[in-house]
Amino acid sequence: MSGKTLSLRMAGRLSEDAQLKAIDLSAVDAIDIDLNELSNISSQGVRTWIQWVDGIDRKKTVSLVNCPKVFVNMLNLVHDIAPPHVKIKSIGVPYFCTKCGHAFCENLELNEHTPKPIVEFKPCNSCDGTAELDTLPEKYFRFLKERA
Ligand SMILES: [Zn+2]
Repeated sequence: MSGKTLSLRMAGRLSEDAQLKAIDLSAVDAIDIDLNELSNISSQGVRTWIQWVDGIDRKKTVSLVNCPKVFVNMLNLVHDIAPPHVKIKSIGVPYFCTKCGHAFCENLELNEHTPKPIVEFKPCNSCDGTAELDTLPEKYFRFLKERA
């Protein structure tokens, strides 16, 4: 085994117009899909995505990295967008600063130690204030329990 990993990046809107092509994975063992710049997912886009993910060879290791809030919210509703053979490596966790109004996401690595206590407060990266977790942990991280 060569241990080669193909890295893909997905950006923009995943909608009814999205064209997800079957990719040639014959030369790789694993595929990493970076979703950081995914801005929106429509319900039709979800169907397109599920078909595409389902079409990937099960012998390959498929990982999703930097899953943004829109993806995590969808994941909590539609479990099939990340079937059990697809590994979720990291997700964005939203924070909001009540002092300056700055909203940002922190990347959280998901591993065997997750869920660990989720950090509820972070220093704001735009002012000297404190940013709060901008989501309900029991809702946002629900998918973890269902995948355990
Ligand atoms: Zn701030």
